[in-house]
Amino acid sequence: MKLPTKIRVGRRLYKINQVKQIADGLMGEVDYELKQIDVATHSSLSGRRFKREEVMDTFWHELTHAILKDMNHPYESNEKFVLEFSSRLTKAIQSARF
Ligand SMILES: [Zn+2]
Repeated sequence: MKLPTKIRVGRRLYKINQVKQIADGLMGEVDYELKQIDVATHSSLSGRRFKREEVMDTFWHELTHAILKDMNHPYESNEKFVLEFSSRLTKAIQSARF
């Protein structure tokens, strides 16, 4: 599965940037003001290239943050909830057959 280049969540149209690395070992980042989602292809700590599934998981993780932000939901900044939710979302999407 390819990463989209743009995606709309509510009234925000996000641009998705695949970047090589993000500081502090982060795999992804969402900026609600700039309406951008950065997804790293390599670890900034070890230099290791992330697996395709890890990159996709990062994208769905950041998108989960963006959806919760759009909902004005208090869990938007609850990393444990976002991690648990988005990892299940990633697995469900990967298992989908058409
Ligand atoms: Zn997060």
